[in-house]
Amino acid sequence: MKFLFFIPFFFIIFSCSETTSIEASKSPTPDDLIAHSSEFKKEVIEVTEGVHVAIGYALANAILVEGENSNIIIDTTGTIETAREVKALFDAINSNPIEAIIYTHNHGDHTYGATVFAEDSNPDIYAHDSTEEYLSRVIGIIRPIISARSNRMFGNSLPKSEVENNGIGPFLEIGRDGRQPGLLYPTKTFSDKIKFEVGGVKVELFHAPGETNDQLFVWLPEKKALFPGDNFYKTFPNLYTIRGTPYRDLAGWVNSIDVMRYLQPEFLIPSHTRPLAGQDNINEILTTYRDGIQFVHDQTVRLMNLGLGPDDIAETLVLPKHLGDSPFLKEFYGSPEWSAKNVFSGYLGWFNGNPSSLKPLPQIEEAENFIKLAGGWDSLLATAEGSYSNGEFQWSLQLTDYLLKSKPDDTQAKLLRQSSLVALGNKESNPNSRYYYLSSAAELDKDYQPNDILLPNIEAITKYPIESFMETLKVNVIPEKSLDKNIQLLFTFTNSTKSFSVFLRKGVLEVQPFMVSGSSVQVTSTEEDLKSVLSGVKSLPIALVNGTLQVNGSRTDLLSFFSSLRN
Ligand SMILES: [Zn+2]
Repeated sequence: MKFLFFIPFFFIIFSCSETTSIEASKSPTPDDLIAHSSEFKKEVIEVTEGVHVAIGYALANAILVEGENSNIIIDTTGTIETAREVKALFDAINSNPIEAIIYTHNHGDHTYGATVFAEDSNPDIYAHDSTEEYLSRVIGIIRPIISARSNRMFGNSLPKSEVENNGIGPFLEIGRDGRQPGLLYPTKTFSDKIKFEVGGVKVELFHAPGETNDQLFVWLPEKKALFPGDNFYKTFPNLYTIRGTPYRDLAGWVNSIDVMRYLQPEFLIPSHTRPLAGQDNINEILTTYRDGIQFVHDQTVRLMNLGLGPDDIAETLVLPKHLGDSPFLKEFYGSPEWSAKNVFSGYLGWFNGNPSSLKPLPQIEEAENFIKLAGGWDSLLATAEGSYSNGEFQWSLQLTDYLLKSKPDDTQAKLLRQSSLVALGNKESNPNSRYYYLSSAAELDKDYQPNDILLPNIEAITKYPIESFMETLKVNVIPEKSLDKNIQLLFTFTNSTKSFSVFLRKGVLEVQPFMVSGSSVQVTSTEEDLKSVLSGVKSLPIALVNGTLQVNGSRTDLLSFFSSLRN
């Protein structure tokens, strides 16, 4: 009965709210993106006594907090090279030993410069309990695809002159000009809140899920200084990132900002873009920011409950003028449109609710049918080229999806696709989509060389936890090479007491972190050597010959296991 009562009630809301349209604010232009570069003018700013932020040297800021005899670093930039540059500047201000490094979250632009800041003083490294798992996920289980998509989104294969800025920083340094990561894993972690003192400075860390689930913010109560990590920066927030991300819980993000607001900070020092000062000013900006996020969340859910699909909502949702006009919500990184789709998928998953999407025609069949409708492949190409000439670049791009699905190697269709992508990219003011278009166009060049920005090296492998490494093996099993196999292996180590039993069973790899009797082959090595060989950094035949891997039992089974993991 209750349910029946609510139906007419909802209809009333729907019919009233849909009669008036919301006035949208003016979208930024590519020229606005160029002007946005002034956010990243290279400098070290003393925000308040003893708090210095280095802006413009890397995608993310690094922050120095001076103590009496020792210092704190909040976020470390994204490579050894950028960290060295910033550390030299910080050392000139205060060269006391660094006693603590704080990671606001796991992303590489905040963590991959750590070795440089840690090299003289072996500091504690503070992070949330879940940071290690997320660090490992990026450099392990999803490394190839997150590397490829990040490379596109940040434009790291484009000439630097084409990368105006990345919206939250001047450029992503990882994988650019040979710069290398120097990651350290956290040594002190917490779940909700932790307080400690470094060099006489009282520090409080609050778990603050938002841009990532492991996000924290730093609060220095004596200085009334708050460091929000990536839960706040001067652009519309990346409520979804097109490089790919676990669901970013918007309601949690709003709540995290509210906790910050109620601490009434005098200084707000984000890990991207410039610091802010003044309690009222900060409160006003944070309120606008959290309202922008909540608006996208609430209105997506409202429209979703009315039965709209993710694409319908993305086409409908407009940030109202008072929010969209805020310089802190301009679309230089995130976008309400992408965010709405993410909220839908966070609550309801991939299915848009349309029965025609349940079991669509295979893509090739749809393409061939579409081509037939268009009067044949040549006719569709001519139409697509006409659309391009008319400036309908999105349509010409979409038509190349069909053309290339049918003839993947056709030069003319590829050229048209490339031109469409370049035209779309040049018109785009959001750096993420701008560089995604332009990089995708560059990838169609005949001599394009892929840029693996997270290529594993010996140093990275050494630090990578063996448990995470063994997990990564599971998603590298090739069924075509293993459906006829049933092999049990045991890995033990000369430099730790750990062991792993591994069962390759007809296309599935079971990994258990203990000994199970019955293995046909036992392999003993250091943890590092096993990781190096399994990841291809060291050669298997050489490792077998020189005893890097000591093998007892069936070498045939070992080789058969390895061959199931390689493409
Ligand atoms: Zn960041």
